[in-house]
Amino acid sequence: MGGRFLSIGECMVELSQAGGGLLRKGFAGDTFNTAWYARACLPATWSVDYLTGLGDDVVSEEMIAFMAGAGVGTSAIRRIAGRTPGLYMIHLKNGERSFSYWRDTSAARALAADADHLRRAIEAVDVVYFSGITLAILPVADLETLLSELRRAKASGKLVAFDPNIRPRLWSGRETMLATISDGARAANLVMPSFDDEATHFGDVSVAATMNRYHGLGVEKIVVKNGEHGATVSFGDEPRLVPAVEAKVVDTTSAGDSFNGAFLARYLVTGDAVEAAGFGAAVAARVIGEHGALIAYEKLVE
Ligand code: ADP
Repeated sequence: MGGRFLSIGECMVELSQAGGGLLRKGFAGDTFNTAWYARACLPATWSVDYLTGLGDDVVSEEMIAFMAGAGVGTSAIRRIAGRTPGLYMIHLKNGERSFSYWRDTSAARALAADADHLRRAIEAVDVVYFSGITLAILPVADLETLLSELRRAKASGKLVAFDPNIRPRLWSGRETMLATISDGARAANLVMPSFDDEATHFGDVSVAATMNRYHGLGVEKIVVKNGEHGATVSFGDEPRLVPAVEAKVVDTTSAGDSFNGAFLARYLVTGDAVEAAGFGAAVAARVIGEHGALIAYEKLVE
């Protein structure tokens, strides 16, 4: 049986070092990365769409062509005349990566400015995915619009999946960040946090503490990712720790995003969260063995 999957957020232009001072252009962003892996792992009976804001410039067109080339539907993308996509550059110094961002005025910030558009896009699908980054980039009024549409989707029985993906520099302050992440979780019925982030920002002392906090917000289904220590799944039964798959770590970019996409793909087809977490771990292990956020499907199944 198939269905329709929608991921909501920001995809950016990525500039990475190509040697000799040259830069390579790519496209990436947490929720798009997850859409990419969900598309790669779901059967053809499922559609995967991406909802963001883009402009009417050449690079917006290129990004749309890139998404379509990966099999990700682009018809839910809002086009805003005169705006451009966000951009980030990856720097490499002594093997350490750091990032510069130009995203304050990106078209993606207007992804929820048209409430009717958002409602239609969400009504058309079975599963909605978003992240703390999706929430962080929105103006306050649009944030409320998005959260209210997500709550509506949850109330109507859709699967609403949320990765808190806590990035302090995108938020105006700590209290707002923690309160809004919690609101995001309340609007979801599946939350997929990374324990490191939750411990750092919410002060959770253990994976169990993270689970209890999200269960306390009314979330039924939780997967806590914990890097090489594996992922703990709590879907109504006793929590189960699913080990990570041993990996040769080349670049951890997108470990969590790829885990989420693969987990969701498998869970949507089998309904078995423990098995899906094992599959997510296997895909994430392959992804961190290669450079870059987006690893081609052929390399994933090798
Ligand atoms: P994030 O990238 O969101 O911080 P994590 O670091 O928790 O997320 O990683 C997500 C998943 O990627 C983990 O649950 C695990 O399956 C896999 N993973 C991450 N780091 C490693 C590692 N060093 N070895 C094997 N698997 C890893």
